Amino acid sequence: KLSNSLAAADIAHSLHPYTNARAHERNGPIIMARGAGVHVYDSEGKEYIEGLAGLWSVAVGFSEPRLAEAAARQMAELPFYHTFAGKANEPAIRLAEKLVEMTPDPLTRVFFTNSGSEANDTVVKLVWFMMNAQGRPKKKKFLSRHKGYHGITVASGSLTGLPVNHRDFDLPAIPVVHLTCPHHWRFGHPGESEAAFTARLLREAEETILAEDPDTIAAFIGEPVMGAGGVIVPPEGYWEGIEALCRRYDILIVADEVINGFGRLGTTFGCERMGFTPDILVTSKQLTSSYMPLAAVVMTEAIYDVIADHSDKLGTLGHGFTASGHPVATAVGLENLKIIEERDLVGNAARLAPSFQNGLRAFADLPLVGEVRGMGLIAAIELVADKATKRSFDPLGRVGARAAAFAAEEGLICRALGDTLALCPPLIVTDADIARIIARMGRAITRTGDWAKA
Ligand code: PLP
Repeated sequence: KLSNSLAAADIAHSLHPYTNARAHERNGPIIMARGAGVHVYDSEGKEYIEGLAGLWSVAVGFSEPRLAEAAARQMAELPFYHTFAGKANEPAIRLAEKLVEMTPDPLTRVFFTNSGSEANDTVVKLVWFMMNAQGRPKKKKFLSRHKGYHGITVASGSLTGLPVNHRDFDLPAIPVVHLTCPHHWRFGHPGESEAAFTARLLREAEETILAEDPDTIAAFIGEPVMGAGGVIVPPEGYWEGIEALCRRYDILIVADEVINGFGRLGTTFGCERMGFTPDILVTSKQLTSSYMPLAAVVMTEAIYDVIADHSDKLGTLGHGFTASGHPVATAVGLENLKIIEERDLVGNAARLAPSFQNGLRAFADLPLVGEVRGMGLIAAIELVADKATKRSFDPLGRVGARAAAFAAEEGLICRALGDTLALCPPLIVTDADIARIIARMGRAITRTGDWAKA
């Protein structure tokens, strides 16, 4: 069978990202063959609801003809051109204009990259360039958070706050300080209220800034709601407090909106929902619904001015990618954002959030479930060995992987982050899809409970 020979070829020739390679050799791949709306179909014809929108990214679903047509039109017209040395192309110009219109007011300038990781590397480099231009060469450190996810390249992987991305990769390789993750349920002290927890974290952030010396800290980077670290919604007042600290100590705020951006939380950007205004906003994923690789760094005019003046002095900006502002990727991005607006997919996320979040919270009473959390159309269910003490399973991840496999058997793709099951469905979901996602997740958790007992 074709799928068997494909699987054999995959096992023989590939090294997969985020995969246990030896386990993959034993189990083989699920080969995805086709998409339709919120569904994908594997090479055996099995149907799944894509409960994670691919990798938190396919807002418009898996069969949007307008994106295929936009790509084909642009391929026929001008399949590639770069944006170096004064060259530009219409889709890149129009998408930059659109991003400035959609992002919070102070953000006026766009730099395109291919991936979220490259975008965050670009942030690091542009911020350093800016500090050098201003004669502040010591102001280079980044503040990030444990469990924050900002990518896997050398600089962005350093900003990421997950041990698996550091261990044996010799990261962090840039000066970064990771603050406590703002997850009250997991990191609150016994009996500590959410408000007291928030106050403690803000105190810790300020003490860290003072101990490191504010003149050495360039920027704070954070996802408004954390994604890959386990879907963590910070408590009320957290972002407001971080914003105030950053303003007090002249620290730039970078909102990593790679997952939150374009409606995930029921607002166009997560920073709007969390109530802060960044100096730099990073977006990718739902920017093109991941039909094409594309990311963007959007910055204030003040930052742009420093960079522009300094590149004038040096003769050029020594940073950019072959595919920065790729015409096909930006044409797809532009059409995708039009669809998000025309179909009011941000509004759809806000309207469906209560049934999605409340439906999943019904699982909180199950013995295996430690916490159900989320906001808008992103959520997570954390499985624990002991509900009373919140003790995790040992080894971490075995039960989560089993639960995700049961979910796949039930026709639902979710992502196991350790023993936390993440859901982040396409923004085109309907009430009926949400009901099916919840029912299938319920059956997967029940089967996991039976399996764990046995
Ligand atoms: N930032 C966030 C918040 C992400 O979730 C991701 C990827 O999941 C990245 C950055 C890195 O993006 P990429 O995988 O496109 O390099």
